[in-house]
Amino acid sequence: MDALLLSHGADLPWLTGYRAMPLERLTMLVLRATGDPVLVVPALEAPRVAGADDLFTVLAWGETEDPLDQVCSLLSNTGNTGSTGSTGAGGRFAISDRAWATTLMALQGRLPAARWIEASAVTSPIRAVKDTLELEALRSAGAAADRVAAVLQAGEIGLIGHTESEVSGRLSALLIAEGHDHVNFAIVGSGPNAASPHHEPGGRVIGRGETVVCDFGGTYSLDGDVGYCSDITRTVVTGEPSDEVAECYLALMSAQQAAVAAARSGVTAEHVDKVAREIIGDAGFGDLFVHRTGHGIGIEEHEDPYLVSGNSEQLRPGHAFSVEPGIYKPGQFGMRLEDIVVIGEDGMPEPLNSAEHGLVIVER
Ligand code: ZN
Ligand code: ZN
Ligand code: ZN
Repeated sequence: MDALLLSHGADLPWLTGYRAMPLERLTMLVLRATGDPVLVVPALEAPRVAGADDLFTVLAWGETEDPLDQVCSLLSNTGNTGSTGSTGAGGRFAISDRAWATTLMALQGRLPAARWIEASAVTSPIRAVKDTLELEALRSAGAAADRVAAVLQAGEIGLIGHTESEVSGRLSALLIAEGHDHVNFAIVGSGPNAASPHHEPGGRVIGRGETVVCDFGGTYSLDGDVGYCSDITRTVVTGEPSDEVAECYLALMSAQQAAVAAARSGVTAEHVDKVAREIIGDAGFGDLFVHRTGHGIGIEEHEDPYLVSGNSEQLRPGHAFSVEPGIYKPGQFGMRLEDIVVIGEDGMPEPLNSAEHGLVIVER
């Protein structure tokens, strides 16, 4: 690459500690193969770019200026190895996957001979392997989410007679009380709604004898650093479960625990998915497990590596991901069990969540 161009999305805060607001105004880190990195930033946002002096130069643009002039002038000084000349007309540039389409299209208009790839081709493999501080943040986030799950499982949140939205609100407030900076989501799906994996919690009143899928997480930061994510799912049942629900849950739990145990350095991401899928399939519920087994997690809720059939990438120390099989019976019930797992230096799985894995009955 002649330059990495980082705008909106997680790559910029991951690399610099600065998170751009999702404004229409352009923010772009221009990280050239040669030359100092420059952050092109709206003048009104410049005060938020703190303590970056030794990392990059800040180039603030005023409301009547065109920031693309600044970006293109920086790019015209790139090496352009193997490109069409020294004017910057050629060159290979990697741009944030989450940059606005308008930004990329304007750059393509100005640099018609340039070739573009997604920044994730450069950043994802590096981001997927967490360093010590990142692991510390993920562990703290996981422990905080565990404490919220424990409150749910202890029956301290009223379920029967309450709406999904109310329960979602309680879980969200607890995530903040336990140290998260932001709530990213608090899915609560009860009864037939539990069969929709990403159900939007609504006005449905939770009844007796229903499964309630609670999947929640937030962003947690240590010492004001950029935040890392938690993500946990626990399914509870409001009263004695039916034989069918109990049988499904046993298959779910053994699939989840076998998949966690199988997640070791050197095995492929798809192998972990296969382990979970085989156990649920052998129990006769294979058709009801409708999503991949897991996703990487870090500064973003979903990132590489994905535990999905077709991903032959090998797991390695520092990888962090969810293991979250589910069983969903349309119109009736659903269940999911999710922990975040890290591959340790010894190559073994280290679960970051330890809240009760069995089917907990909450009779209130
Ligand atoms: Zn999800
Ligand atoms: Zn989740
Ligand atoms: Zn997840």
